[in-house]
Amino acid sequence: MFIPTVKEIPADAEVASHQLMIRAGLCRKIASGTYTYLPLGWRSLLKIIAIVREEMNKAGAQEILVPSMQPLELWDRTGRSDDYGPTMFRFEDRHGRMNVLGPTAEEVFTTLIAGEVKSYKQLPINIYQISSKYRDEFRPRFGAIRSREFIMKDAYSFDVDPESLDKSYQAMYDAYCRIFKRCGLEYVIVEAESGEMGGSGSHQFTIPCESGEDTIVYTEDGSYAANLERAAVDPLPKEQSNSEIPPMEEVHTPNIGSIDSVCEFLKTKPEDMIKSLVFWKFDKDLKDFIAKQIERIEELEYDLKREKTEHDLAVNATYTDDRYQDEAEDEAMHTASMVHVHERDLDNEKSLLNFDGYEKIQFTIALVRGDHEVNQEKLRIITGQSLELAPEDMIEWLTCAKVGFAGPVGLKKAVPLIIDQAIAAMASGVTGANKTDYHIKNVVPGRDFPLEGENIAVADIRLAGEGDTYKGKKLLFKKGIEVGQVFKLGTKYSKKLGAKFLDEQGNEKPCIMGCYGIGINRIFASAIELGNDKNGIIWPISIAPCEVIITSVNQDHEEVARAAGRIYEQLLGKGIDVLLDDRSMRAGVKFKDADLLGIPIRITVGQRSLAEGNVEVKLRSESESSKVSVENATAKVIELVNELKEQLNV
Ligand code: ATP
Ligand code: MG
Repeated sequence: MFIPTVKEIPADAEVASHQLMIRAGLCRKIASGTYTYLPLGWRSLLKIIAIVREEMNKAGAQEILVPSMQPLELWDRTGRSDDYGPTMFRFEDRHGRMNVLGPTAEEVFTTLIAGEVKSYKQLPINIYQISSKYRDEFRPRFGAIRSREFIMKDAYSFDVDPESLDKSYQAMYDAYCRIFKRCGLEYVIVEAESGEMGGSGSHQFTIPCESGEDTIVYTEDGSYAANLERAAVDPLPKEQSNSEIPPMEEVHTPNIGSIDSVCEFLKTKPEDMIKSLVFWKFDKDLKDFIAKQIERIEELEYDLKREKTEHDLAVNATYTDDRYQDEAEDEAMHTASMVHVHERDLDNEKSLLNFDGYEKIQFTIALVRGDHEVNQEKLRIITGQSLELAPEDMIEWLTCAKVGFAGPVGLKKAVPLIIDQAIAAMASGVTGANKTDYHIKNVVPGRDFPLEGENIAVADIRLAGEGDTYKGKKLLFKKGIEVGQVFKLGTKYSKKLGAKFLDEQGNEKPCIMGCYGIGINRIFASAIELGNDKNGIIWPISIAPCEVIITSVNQDHEEVARAAGRIYEQLLGKGIDVLLDDRSMRAGVKFKDADLLGIPIRITVGQRSLAEGNVEVKLRSESESSKVSVENATAKVIELVNELKEQLNV
């Protein structure tokens, strides 16, 4: 069997699952965030897929398969082309039509239903697929945990009313509990969004473990558990100041832009700083246009400088020979007109950059305290837009200052302000002056910049942190891997893509949708994260590449080989998923490999114990082995397999 195990830990593998999936010969990297799954890795994924499929079918969902290659136009219709931004792979086909490699498939499933469903009688319906998804992740890492191509099970439910959606949602929620239990994973369910339709609108299934990229925020009594992206915090008490705060004062802070350096320079603390973050609604075309214009302007500026130098040379040239002098004067006239042309071109391009570029950008400024981090997910919900941090050139255009000197006071352009509630609670603070190398002291929120008005909102937009409370209870934090998510979508997609039905009264209504995703590869990786020791993987039996491994320690010894072969055949005949290590290698190497592979049950067939009529049976999760007579070995191992499976059954 093709199981290329390796001793060395791969240099780019930071977490246990990534290291072990390579070392145990389960997969190989082909490029950043893309992996080839080798026989054992693929067997494990197939087992996960089988469990997911079985539970989905049991819950009444029906499996289909839609294309991964999807027209961009569908994504434009729902506005998600912008939302996904650079995370979505896009490409043009030979006819000039734009396509995407689906990062998920709401658009395609909803379009299907739009074409097929006419009446309430056809609903509810829940359809799903298990297929490759593509995301150009900003930072692909941790092996199978965050890759750029991965297998996802994605299901979509279509219902006639919210009550019916609740039922579909609950059926998926329950199926997910069974799936993760059967895969041998200890999971935590966290609230991922407070629902629009009463109750919670989304839940994430998270595997607590150190290498997780998600942070679970919870209260000790278990009354609250949420994803860090959503975790709400209580507002902070309003700071009282002992004396009246003096008027604002501009201070010179040369080349000092970062929070830490400003604090050091002005002898103040991060919690007294008002941090201004400039966001923009990502628009690929606009971004490309601006980049092109900037490049063009730089070229023109370079040309202009060169023309000016030549012009200066020509003007200042003095020749005794009249012929040369005339030529120089001609040259001076010519270069003067070139300078003029370039200046005009430059002005044109600059105004194009402004009016067709920067002026069209939808900016938002978020204010948080210097010691707080903005929570982009909260910001997205409040603004109803998917926002990205603006690149340097945009910030400089908007604030008319270098990056590091933005602030809410004295902005020359009107920008929506979203102010964190902790800012509103500050007595006063220090902020950027929208002027390069300057900050402003004694800035009082509400006095020096407004806390209410058109396009101004005070809200909870920061990440929860140590010391925060929610509903008066202390918040605690732990890391986790998100393996699945269930979501009440409502009518967002059905309205935009025309998935409507006629109700009993003959009224046309949009379907009420839910969507439900599971990362197959993340289950695989999480199982390794939870089940490993210094020697290798310890698989849960349900998703182990094989249930049993037979290690024949003296393969060249005829009787040993025969006994091992016989047990192998017997187990195979009983439907056990068994691997026979019949390589002619040293026992030590074979044991090491067996431990690395992590197959739950090992049968060791060796010359010495065989002479006594025994073989050894050992669980990968335990250190002691037990002797079993050769005749009883098969029955005993089947019993063990069943016992281990039983523990994972629901
Ligand atoms: P994340 O927040 O980790 O980027 P997500 O919330 O964007 O994930 P969903 O859109 O909810 O992901 O996708 C459904 C499931 O697909 C996730 O719960 C996760 O298990 C899996 N998944 C998402 N992105 C990746 C990825 N880059 N690599 C592997 N699995 C992924
Ligand atoms: Mg998710």
